[in-house]
Amino acid sequence: NKLLAVSNFSVSYGDGNFAISDVNFSLFDGEFVVLLGSSGAGKSTLLRSLNGLVGGCSGSIQSRDHGEIRSCSKRLLRTHRRDTAMVFQQHQLIDRLSVLDNVLIGRLGYHSCLRTFLPLPEADRRMALSALERVGLLDKAMVRVKDLSGGQQQRVGIARALVQQPRIILADEPIASLDPESSVQILSLLKDICRRDRIAVLVSLHQVEFARQFADRIIGMAFGRIVCDRESLTLEDNE
Ligand code: ADP
Ligand code: ADP
Repeated sequence: NKLLAVSNFSVSYGDGNFAISDVNFSLFDGEFVVLLGSSGAGKSTLLRSLNGLVGGCSGSIQSRDHGEIRSCSKRLLRTHRRDTAMVFQQHQLIDRLSVLDNVLIGRLGYHSCLRTFLPLPEADRRMALSALERVGLLDKAMVRVKDLSGGQQQRVGIARALVQQPRIILADEPIASLDPESSVQILSLLKDICRRDRIAVLVSLHQVEFARQFADRIIGMAFGRIVCDRESLTLEDNE
């Protein structure tokens, strides 16, 4: 079942160069796909494009549930963004807020979360706590984000994605600033979420070994183009 189909997709940032050129691929239900490429290959641009966050593009991004996201209504684009949660390299959490409040931002949005005088709906609170339990941080709910380790902060970022109840998680170099041990934990967690919660995961990495270890499928990018797209086990054939 095809969740996203990207066709003839290109992005130029307006300086005459293409960050992405003529990219074609599909993302299917239940897959754990690694987008592999070195810095500058276009991974970040592609992931942000899939979430409708990039201008200057041409081609098509077709969503199973929301149609062509490059031309859909604002309302559909909002729904698409909720269904397609992002996890970032620098996790983009708010340092001075608690872990729980950061997770709630995924549910309620940034502005509602800052209005702390409003009573918090019990259902949202329960969902945020259950996401924290899912990532193994229930006991840190009231801790401030800045007092967590890098790996723990990234798990908060994943919990924030989970409360959106997405169909797809797009993770942009989620382990780039982590040590090897935390990296394995984060990738294992994302893989487990893919398998058990049946959320398709597209994660960008620059480390071949991690891609081999975790991916169902590896899409290789270089200089803004897809250079290979295959089941991970056969990647060696190409080298
Ligand atoms: P990656 O995530 O693989 O490191 P990026 O998508 O960040 O790759 O970058 C792809 C290319 O687009 C690079 O050449 C980068 O310099 C360029 N690029 C990225 N963001 C911008 C921007 N905001 N303005 C101009 N060029 C950009
Ligand atoms: P990545 O970690 O994906 O490689 P970078 O560190 O290259 O990202 O880029 C960090 C930020 O700088 C991003 O917001 C990106 O869009 C922007 N950026 C990257 N390259 C350029 C560029 N050539 N011109 C302007 N902005 C850029």
